[in-house]
Order: sequence, then structure tokens, then C-alpha cells
Amino acid sequence: MIVAGIHGGYEWNTIALADELMAYFQQYPQKIPSGVTLYILRSLNPDGRARSQGAAGRANENGVDINRNFPAFWQADWPREGCWSYMPISAGRTPASEPETKALMNFLRAHSIEALISYHSAGLGIFPGGKEPDPASIHLAEAVASVSAYPYPPINTGCMYNGQLTDWVSLEGIPAVDIELTNHQDTDFEQNLEILSVFLNWEGFNQGG
Ligand SMILES: [Zn+2]
Repeated sequence: MIVAGIHGGYEWNTIALADELMAYFQQYPQKIPSGVTLYILRSLNPDGRARSQGAAGRANENGVDINRNFPAFWQADWPREGCWSYMPISAGRTPASEPETKALMNFLRAHSIEALISYHSAGLGIFPGGKEPDPASIHLAEAVASVSAYPYPPINTGCMYNGQLTDWVSLEGIPAVDIELTNHQDTDFEQNLEILSVFLNWEGFNQGG
């Protein structure tokens, strides 16, 4: 599964990438190996996307950063200094308080998802899921990194990331990575086609049983 737009309009180019990928796979469905189903969620935070293409587009309609709201190492607050602090933003009242969070959790559990990419922007690289990165997610990150120019290991900003989608997914036993596009405009389409050719044929799918 691919999830784009968790950070709404602030990272609108991840949604543009998802749209390009959907158009591509509709034109070339044979690029998806038989026996593999690819789900693309193009815009997890449509309210943020509609509000702004800048920093004001990051949160959902409740002012919540959806990628701080998952029930994985959730914290009500975190240090902002030197980290993302362009707008007031929260982790939600409780873990999984937000409708977007709940909808995606329900979908993942109902569809036996075997691996997940969450797209972000910009520039920090490829992050395996897990607070202490989960071995299967590291394996997936290495496979993706082998065909991309995105930094891996990712750039360490020293910032705290709590309640993240990929951390929750890895706690569910599903390999997951965050991939940050190079900037806030480009979709890096060709590079991500390479990444998806690795992702869709990844041998790690069969490891967890
Ligand atoms: Zn992001």
C-alpha cells in the first residue's frame, strides 16, 4: 500500500505523485506482478490539502498532525525548537482520536496489507518504521534505497517523531517506510517508478507468513 498526503497541502507533491502513479498503472497494469494488489491512498488529509499549499495545510480540520496521532509511542506534546514549528499543531486529544487515523487503521486491518510506503516531503530521506527501527522495515528501506538517491540512513534532525503511521504499521508486524521526496514541488516520478518496481517485487512480502 502507498499512502500519500498525510501532511495535506504542505506536502501536496506527494498527492501529485500518487496521481501520476495511478495514471501510470492504469496504462500499464502488467507492471503489477500477478498475485500482488497495490492500494494507493492518494490524499489521507483532504482538509489540509484544500486549505493551503503551505505550512497551514499540514494539519487536519481539528489542527492535528495526523502523523503524530497514531497509537505508537504517542505523546500529547513534544519539543518544537529547531523542528517543525511553523504553525500551532497537536497530536490529537488521544491516540487515534482523528477520523483520518481511524479510517486508515481500519482499512489496513481489513485488507491484510503486507508492506507500506508513506510519502512525505521534503529531503530527509528514507525512514524505516519503528522507534527502534524494526528489522523488516530496515530490510524494506535498504531495498528501496538501493534504487534511489534519497538519503539512507535518513538525515538525523534530532527531532522527536511520535505517533507516526509507519511506527504503528511496523508494530502491527507490517514492514513500513517513510520516503521523503526531494523538495516540496517535484514528484520525482521516474525515481519513484524505480522504487515501486522494487517494492512490488520485494521478496520480503513472503517472510512474515
Ligand atoms: Zn510529512
